[in-house]
Amino acid sequence: MTMKTDILNRLKYSLGKDAENASTYDWRIALSLVLRDQMVETWFRSTRETYAASPKRVYYLSMEFLIGRLIEDMIANLRMEDTVKTAIAELGQDYDTIVHDEPDAALGNGGLGRLAACFMDSLATLGIPAFGYGIRYEHGLFEQSFAQGQQVEKPETWLTQRHAWEFERPEARYRIGFGGHVEHRDGSARWHPGEVVMATAHDTPVVGWNGDWGNTLRLWSAEPSKDFDLESFNRGDYLAAGRSEALARTISRVLYPDDTTESGKELRLKQEYFFTAASIMDLLRRYLADHDDIRDLPDYVAIQLNDTHPAIAGPELVRILVDEHGLPMDEAIPLTRRCLAYTNHTLLPEALERWSEHLMGRTLPRHLEIIRAIEHAHQTEFPDSPRILDHGDVRMGELAFIMAHKVNGVSALHTELVKQTVFADLHRIHPDRIINQTNGITPRRWLYGCNPSLRHLITDAIGEGWVTDLEQLTALKDKRDDAAFIDAFMASKRENKVNLSNWIGQTMGVALDPDAMFDVQIKRIHEYKRQLMNLLETVALWNEMRDNPNADWTPRIKIFGGKAAPGYFVAKDIIRLINDVAQVINADPVTGDRLKIVYPPNYNVTMAERLIPAADLSEQISTAGKEASGTGNMKFALNGALTIGTLDGANVEIRDHVGTENFFLFGLTAQEVMERRTHHGYSRAAIEASPRLQRVLGQIAEGRFAPQDPSRYHGLVGMLYDHDYFLVTCDFDSYFDTQRRADMVYQTPENWAAMALVNTASMGWFSSDRTIKGYAHDIWGAKSVLSA
Ligand SMILES: *Cc1c(COP(=O)(O)O)cnc(C)c1O
Repeated sequence: MTMKTDILNRLKYSLGKDAENASTYDWRIALSLVLRDQMVETWFRSTRETYAASPKRVYYLSMEFLIGRLIEDMIANLRMEDTVKTAIAELGQDYDTIVHDEPDAALGNGGLGRLAACFMDSLATLGIPAFGYGIRYEHGLFEQSFAQGQQVEKPETWLTQRHAWEFERPEARYRIGFGGHVEHRDGSARWHPGEVVMATAHDTPVVGWNGDWGNTLRLWSAEPSKDFDLESFNRGDYLAAGRSEALARTISRVLYPDDTTESGKELRLKQEYFFTAASIMDLLRRYLADHDDIRDLPDYVAIQLNDTHPAIAGPELVRILVDEHGLPMDEAIPLTRRCLAYTNHTLLPEALERWSEHLMGRTLPRHLEIIRAIEHAHQTEFPDSPRILDHGDVRMGELAFIMAHKVNGVSALHTELVKQTVFADLHRIHPDRIINQTNGITPRRWLYGCNPSLRHLITDAIGEGWVTDLEQLTALKDKRDDAAFIDAFMASKRENKVNLSNWIGQTMGVALDPDAMFDVQIKRIHEYKRQLMNLLETVALWNEMRDNPNADWTPRIKIFGGKAAPGYFVAKDIIRLINDVAQVINADPVTGDRLKIVYPPNYNVTMAERLIPAADLSEQISTAGKEASGTGNMKFALNGALTIGTLDGANVEIRDHVGTENFFLFGLTAQEVMERRTHHGYSRAAIEASPRLQRVLGQIAEGRFAPQDPSRYHGLVGMLYDHDYFLVTCDFDSYFDTQRRADMVYQTPENWAAMALVNTASMGWFSSDRTIKGYAHDIWGAKSVLSA
């Protein structure tokens, strides 16, 4: 059968529509179901081969999977782009309209969740048998809009439509308990939970490049447990019966819109335990179906904890081994450790999770006992070890570290800082445990999929091998002196910029000059990421353009994108200020087309795919020592943007790879940042030394950008004077000067393009395929089943 008749059949038999009455939604679902059918073949074959080979399986536990839209990923990985486009055209439909109809599945906040999604693509492409485990949130990350420049949050509703990719698995259901009490008898313990919810699996097949291998993303949703309700009900405990119903409804309802502050919410702890416990039960069931001896578990199971959110996996697995399989504690703890590994994502102290012992004891009483046993065992062996239980809190970072056989940072610099700061004492005791695995991005989505014009140019020049072996891009370095190729490279970038300008014109009503430099900062809004510094530099540039309107300024479009956590008031002030400044600058006839600010609302994966291919300059300007890795930085450089950045996170390694001459470096180093903070009054001193910065802060403070409400930004400006923790003021001058250096280079477009090409050509190492090979070899001891 042809693709065309397949789609028509799905329309008819799965949606009950004929072609005359089908909406865009109907066409999209019909197409998605046809593609899903294709994937199922790969998926079944992979499962059969996995059972036959009985290899070690990887289980990637993550509270977030920021997968975005899947349809184009699926079409690309199945190599069906031409087939689908032809069929859709023959059916009289518009391909772009259909693929853009899919909601962006925003089951994550930012980098951490997007990393998990890239890893799933790489695991499947490499043919490593793996499951991703997470939560099927009914509402993903909130939808952002602006009202008078201020962020407004609306609930996200991706699941109000049918999620065409998933299969519900009613047979994979587990009882997850909370609360209750622990019964100790004859030296053994039994936990009797006070409430139970059911975890039900929903599977999305994840098919790698060329449809060669398929893994599973298994997301859990919470449902009330009917039997348990009846039991309470019959006892006359109507409240308990209602509680489990209410709990089930809330547990998988919303994603916490903040992964950078430790949240003291009981619901968050329950979410974490809910998906971790379901995943552990599920992987044990799979293991025990083929194996008799639980002691061999570490030979077949590798569990990766994406941050501390699933760190309760340690005590949970120990609990099952001890309470259900009868292993002694001193055997269960090291056995569990051999299965577990932990990825640290942050050094921000406010982001390191801790739960009060009281809450832990109330929610997971048996787990608190086991945490005490883990603490005791570790203290006995290492009397000067830092504690898991500290001042009445359970510290999840220490728990994850102690229960993992490997702990990894996500960039070389970050890993060094992990060793020197958060886990310095544990590192001294376990010097071989911390290793580095620098993050990566999947080239399938972040070049092949999002940048067709560059994809074609590259493939015509060096063939298609780069899609699964990104280091092959190195061959493009030979083209840097090839004028015709540089012209084509510039034409590709310009095409992307025209497309973006059209979209911004349509959606925001702002006309952009596609020959201006597109200067892009898109990421969560956070003080340490320093969108504020970018904005202050924009105002300073505006001032100087107005002072010298006849000078030969390099035209710039400043593009911002990103959401602030709803309770993060400073970040929300920064958003408002960006929008206020944009209003004034965009209306200024003196600067006109030479300076514009645009801030399209609701930054998400789909928007990243739109903006990144059109960027000339990538803003990676965090305070050194604060960004663990960054992955946005990699997406931009791969798509031929030059980076202006600090020596932070993976910027350091990107600069090493692309060459110092092809990277706009500025700012204090991590060491200098720590040192500067010890100087009394460092920010006031920096402001007083910079007339340019003083002028900008003066304008903001006196209401130049909010004339109706002139004191609106007093707080923000006052903060910069008195406690500028992220050193915006100290790095400002160096940042401004480096921006002017970028202006100069941009004046000679061929030079800029040659530098940008070297960036693309040098990014092979940042493929998440390389990262996953590193995890597989250094942490999991897992192998590809494909090549076998
Ligand atoms: C890549 C990505 C991020 C991470 O960006 P950073 O600049 O590394 O913070 C966040 N959100 C989305 C939607 C992304 O695609």
